[in-house]
Amino acid sequence: MDPVARKHDVIIMGGGLAGLTLAIQLRQRFDDIDVLVIERRAHPVPHAAHKVGESSVEIGAHYFDTVLGLKEHMQTKQLRKFGFRFFNSEGKRDLDQVTEIGARRFLRVPSYQIDRGIFENFLAEEAVRLGASVVDDAMVRQIDLAGDAANAGGSSGVRDSQPLHRVTWTQGEATHTAEARWIVDACGRAGLIKRKLGLAEANAHDVNAAWFRIGEHIDVDQWVDNKDWRALCNPQSRWLSTNHMCGTGYWTWLIPLASGSHSVGIVADPKLHPLETYNTFEKAMDWLQKWQPSVFDKLDGKRHLLQDFLFLRHFSHGCKQVFSGQRWALTGDAGLFLDPFYSPGSDFIAMSNCYITDLIAHDRAGESIEARAQLYDQLYHSFYESTLALYQDQYPIFGDPEVLPVKVIWDYTYYWAVLAQIFFHNRLTDLAMLGSVKEELQHCQKLNIAMQNFLRAWSERTTKRNPAVMLDHAGLPWFVDLNSSLYDTLDDAAFRQRLRDGTDLLRRLATEIYDRSEAHRPEPEGMLLRALVDQKMTTAPAAAAQGTLLFEALQH
Ligand SMILES: Cc1cc2nc3c(=O)[nH]c(=O)nc-3n(C[C@H](O)[C@H](O)[C@H](O)COP(=O)(O)OP(=O)(O)OC[C@H]3O[C@@H](n4cnc5c(N)ncnc54)[C@H](O)[C@@H]3O)c2cc1C
Repeated sequence: MDPVARKHDVIIMGGGLAGLTLAIQLRQRFDDIDVLVIERRAHPVPHAAHKVGESSVEIGAHYFDTVLGLKEHMQTKQLRKFGFRFFNSEGKRDLDQVTEIGARRFLRVPSYQIDRGIFENFLAEEAVRLGASVVDDAMVRQIDLAGDAANAGGSSGVRDSQPLHRVTWTQGEATHTAEARWIVDACGRAGLIKRKLGLAEANAHDVNAAWFRIGEHIDVDQWVDNKDWRALCNPQSRWLSTNHMCGTGYWTWLIPLASGSHSVGIVADPKLHPLETYNTFEKAMDWLQKWQPSVFDKLDGKRHLLQDFLFLRHFSHGCKQVFSGQRWALTGDAGLFLDPFYSPGSDFIAMSNCYITDLIAHDRAGESIEARAQLYDQLYHSFYESTLALYQDQYPIFGDPEVLPVKVIWDYTYYWAVLAQIFFHNRLTDLAMLGSVKEELQHCQKLNIAMQNFLRAWSERTTKRNPAVMLDHAGLPWFVDLNSSLYDTLDDAAFRQRLRDGTDLLRRLATEIYDRSEAHRPEPEGMLLRALVDQKMTTAPAAAAQGTLLFEALQH
């Protein structure tokens, strides 16, 4: 046992993706901050077969390459992702004979496929280079929060009136104690503070997953002997996408990794595909043979290249509170996690780390942070709840080639027009600004919930035609522009207008989707959606652009 507890400004428990990126962010922001990261695993960690969380989307990617300035690593040591790609390929062997949703070319704002082993080794080195203390092969054993009876007497070197949090950790045979003004739980599913304070909160989104890595790339482009089909994409690199092989109640992911391996996963609603049908590698292969035979065909000869196999039941979870004015916080999986269908895990890490960094900045400036922590917690939870609506009870839609393309367009528009604008334009912590667009944000949230209910009910009525067509996102100019607009520079007035335009865009899109559904329109969901679209708002609508928003090629 250390004779005297070492004192730090911040102790981060868990040096995975969330903990290491937070350490980097803190050291970049405050050159005199003392940060200790305690990580259970020994470094360097293995490449490829390390952790899930390999596909990133725009917010998470922007956090890594721009906010943290890790562009060189992302561009040279990881793979640029060729966006999402969805195939309605259940029971099919020819990918060129089914409906494909995805872009023919790269859009402007990049995202990455992340080999988590390569990334975490790099992040740990970077955190140390920037001046953080990172101890690996070390285990947090006990936490005494400031104010706990067990922690009476600890005091801060900075402001002696407030007690410090205390952490007891071990490394080999040695036991250490450390104290800090701030303590952050980045322990992933171990959720140390969550358990201690009883913050676990179940959500109603019930899905399970199994995944494994194969030590070779899986080249989707070569699956079909059809030059014209391959030439639809430029570059002819569909394998760089996060490929979703979809069916009713599930999807299968294919994610390439820079180390040369490929990650394969099955995520399913247990009402339609019980976990017990795919929770070993052998069972997963049998399952693929039945539901996604093209994936099975390509993996069958590579069984000897299997690198690992894992599964997780009911992985989606909430958390009652993630930020506290008592100077503790939870980030990453230690807090909440939604669903990997659109890879929002690193987005939520990006947002919570930015909130935590900002709270620490206000605290260091000597300000009270009680109210601010509460507001950030509410905002973070409202982002979680509105994003949860994209997934909860929506898995049956994944097998509908008529409704899934519409849902993907809607979900993306909601993401790029609202949440991504807030993050890219650095307004996450601008409470005055977010307050001034509250009406728009709430309207978008209600519209999204009504749309998700509508899409689900609509999908119960469609004929599920699955024509051989590529629905090209890069062929929708407004969609390409919306993606590009994340890089605009906006003053306050322009940002406010941007969110109003986004609200207007969602209303137009909802109207068009409503009109398209005429042949199989569900009620009362249609009426409820229409009523929201027609609802008067106090802010003047932007000048509506003309033209259709949805794919012309899509017939309903
Ligand atoms: C099926 C599935 C698929 C997913 N796919 C994606 C995806 O494609 N994209 C995406 O962005 N996200 C995805 N996620 C979410 C992904 O898990 C998170 O984005 C990310 O891994 C969370 O990082 P983290 O740092 O919070 O947790 P972790 O990376 O798990 O890190 C936690 C760290 O804490 C350490 N630790 C635990 N207990 C202790 C202790 N007592 N003392 C010290 N250290 C400790 C662990 O060793 C670990 O390194 C997926 C999740 C699931 C379940």
